[in-house]
Amino acid sequence: MFKKILIANRGEIALRVQRACREMGIKAVMVYSEADRDAKYVKLADEAVCIGPAPSAQSYLSMPAIISAAEVTDAEAIHPGYGFLSENADFAERVEKSGFVFIGPTPESIRIMGDKVSAKQAMIRAGVPCVPGSEGALPDDPAVIKRIAKSVGYPVIIKAAGGGGGRGMRVVHTEAALLHAVQTTKAEAGAAFGNPEVYMEKFLQNPRHIEIQVLADTYRNAVYLFERDCSMQRRHQKVIEEAPAPGIPRRLIEKIGERCAAACKKIGYRGAGTFEFLYENGEFYFIEMKTRVQVEHPVTEAITGIDIVRTQIAVAAGEKLPFTQRQIQVRGHAIECRINAEDAYKFTPSPGRVTTWHMPGGPGVRVDSHVYANYMVPPNYDSMIGKLIVHGDTREQALARMRTALAETAIEGIKTNVPLHRELMVDANFEAGGTNIHYLESWLEQRDR
Ligand code: ADP
Repeated sequence: MFKKILIANRGEIALRVQRACREMGIKAVMVYSEADRDAKYVKLADEAVCIGPAPSAQSYLSMPAIISAAEVTDAEAIHPGYGFLSENADFAERVEKSGFVFIGPTPESIRIMGDKVSAKQAMIRAGVPCVPGSEGALPDDPAVIKRIAKSVGYPVIIKAAGGGGGRGMRVVHTEAALLHAVQTTKAEAGAAFGNPEVYMEKFLQNPRHIEIQVLADTYRNAVYLFERDCSMQRRHQKVIEEAPAPGIPRRLIEKIGERCAAACKKIGYRGAGTFEFLYENGEFYFIEMKTRVQVEHPVTEAITGIDIVRTQIAVAAGEKLPFTQRQIQVRGHAIECRINAEDAYKFTPSPGRVTTWHMPGGPGVRVDSHVYANYMVPPNYDSMIGKLIVHGDTREQALARMRTALAETAIEGIKTNVPLHRELMVDANFEAGGTNIHYLESWLEQRDR
């Protein structure tokens, strides 16, 4: 096992990975920007290295700064967390070329999955069901584009091969609007992602976002840790996640889970990963693969009892997966609310000093956050400041625990979205389960009226 790991991230995930290291007897090196000097996990670190000023481009996204920090501290491996450099194949490659272990898949896997066209082609070859659409990138010929759209059937969605974070997509309802939409998306994709390639998919009208967590080692063993339902989204950003997904027959989950695990073996995937699907009328359609640990991993940890971060580290160190598929069982139900420093209904960011920070507790309650009373939320980064996760024997119990936990939560000094979560936890449709990806936005629209 490693003796020392460098954690190339900040915020709650930096603390989460540090906790896994502690438990495993591994020393944790933290890197931080000048804005994060006072962070709790920096104070708790075995060693900490300042890697630059507040802007991420000069700190958390600076490959030379992070690699030199690993060199001066003699770390053996680098955990990238999520966001920042976690899905950057060039970074993974530079880490390995510099003689460190990258805690994640091979640069090759990251590269294939980072391009949505190549990812989709790999999935089709591996037998994972995809959204019907163009075979690969769209050609230039307008007549061919029209023919593809006709055979896919309107409405269609034009998506950038290099897109991410919900950007670089355009829905087209009629042939009259098609060519203009393709041109605009191409131009935007070229400017935003440095890759003008676009592809076409059937636009699904009312899907749910269901994703499958996988874990794989370097010996071609791969398992799936069932599903998460992340349909409660605003602007393609997840707000609430839960596991299992309400109302989906277990045999369908097992079938798609087996496909995902088989695909991992086929492509030589290693580490933690997530296959994201849209789910409509009993069918799964692959949209993309995340080649890193995800924000919502704790709900899966709660229902399976498996520590995903610990397993990531173990397989990166060359260990075999410590469990087989048959040993993985679902127990109970888990829900996660993302706590953001923002106005609960206008969504404007609300950085600043936290004066009161009172977190809930009790059976089945987990709080993953780096924040404390008197902490200064810097304005430079993502607005997520923590996650509240509850686990219960049933979905009803999990909901009840979440309501209690949210009622106990007291954060002052900055605005947060806790009031929004309190309202959603008593919404009849959310309570019933199985809301689709448009539900939260239409709920917000109605509320504003
Ligand atoms: P990103 O990498 O930007 O998150 P995704 O491919 O994961 O892009 O898509 C993000 C979101 O866009 C999905 O969760 C879904 O809400 C919507 N979306 C993407 N493809 C389709 C589709 N074919 N039909 C309907 N909605 C889609």
